[in-house]
Amino acid sequence: MGEIILDAHAKINLGLDITGLRGDGYHLVDMVMQAVTLSDRIIVKDNGSSDIRLTSDAKHLPLDEHNLAYKAAKLMQDAFPGTGGVDIHIEKNIPVAAGLAGGSTDAAAVMTGINELFGLGTDKRKLMEMAVKLGADVPYCIFGGTARAEGIGEVITKLSDLPDCFILISKPSCSVSTRETYERYDALTEVLHPDIEGMIRCIETGDMPGMSAKMGNVLEYVTEPMHPVIGDIKRVARENGAVSSMMSGSGPSVFSIFDDEEKLKSAKARIEEAGLCGENHACRPV
Ligand code: ATP
Repeated sequence: MGEIILDAHAKINLGLDITGLRGDGYHLVDMVMQAVTLSDRIIVKDNGSSDIRLTSDAKHLPLDEHNLAYKAAKLMQDAFPGTGGVDIHIEKNIPVAAGLAGGSTDAAAVMTGINELFGLGTDKRKLMEMAVKLGADVPYCIFGGTARAEGIGEVITKLSDLPDCFILISKPSCSVSTRETYERYDALTEVLHPDIEGMIRCIETGDMPGMSAKMGNVLEYVTEPMHPVIGDIKRVARENGAVSSMMSGSGPSVFSIFDDEEKLKSAKARIEEAGLCGENHACRPV
C-alpha cells in the first residue's frame, strides 16, 4: 500500500480586491497570490479500506469531516470510484485562521496526493475546477507559485515568478473570522481599491519597488481598525527596512518583504522586543 508525502505551502496575498457580489452571495475577487516556503507536511497513505482517517500534531484542529483535508478526500472518493480509503496525517506549521490559507493548502495537497496515489490521472485544471467547492483559495493552492485569482477564486492565471526576496510573516495572537470579515466589508461605504493590473505589470517586468507601491488589501479596512497591532507591525517592519508590509487575506497575519536577510532579522527582533508578535516565520517565495 502506497504513501505520499507533500509540502502544503502557505500563501500570502500581494494584492486583494473585492470587485462585486454574486447573486448567490459569493464575493467576486481579484487577487495576486504568492506561495511561500512556510508549509504543512501532509502524509497520505492508502489504508486498504474505504475509510478516511485523520491525525495531526496540532491541538485545536478538527479531525473529522469538518477538516478541509477530510472534505478533500471525500470529494475525491465521490468523484472517482477508483479512490480507496486514506490515512492522512497533518504536520501543522502554518498558523491556523491567520489569512494564510492553512486549511485550503492542506485540502489542495490531499487532492493532489490522492490523484497520484491511486493513479487517477486527473489533470490539474480539472482538480482546480472541483476544488472551488471546498473554498475560494483551494484552486490557487493546487496551482501554486505566483498567480492571479479572479471570479470567486477559481479563475487562475499564471504570473511571472517574484524576484527573489525575503519574507517575514508575523502572526499576532488575535483571531479573525474570514466570514465575519467579508460581512463587515459589505457594510463599508468608502474603499480605495488597489491597482491590481498595475501591480501585475510590475511583477511581469520584475519591478519590485513598483509592485510594492501598488500593493493593497481591501480587507485591511475591516481588520486593522479592530486589531491595531496589525498597523504597529507594519510600521516597525517598514522602519526596519521592509520594502513593503501588508496584511494577508482577512488577517491577522502581516507579511513584510525585504531585499536583504539581515534587515529581515533586525525587523523580526524589533517586532518581538516591542511585544507586538511572538510568532514570526522567515520564508521565501516558492
Ligand atoms: P484563508 O486565508 O483561506 O481565509 P485562513 O488561513 O484564514 O484561511 P485556516 O487556517 O484555513 O484559515 O483556518 C480556518 C478555519 O478552518 C479554522 O477555524 C480551522 O479550525 C478550520 N480548519 C479545517 N481544516 C483545517 C486544516 N486542515 N488546517 C487549518 N484549519 C482548518
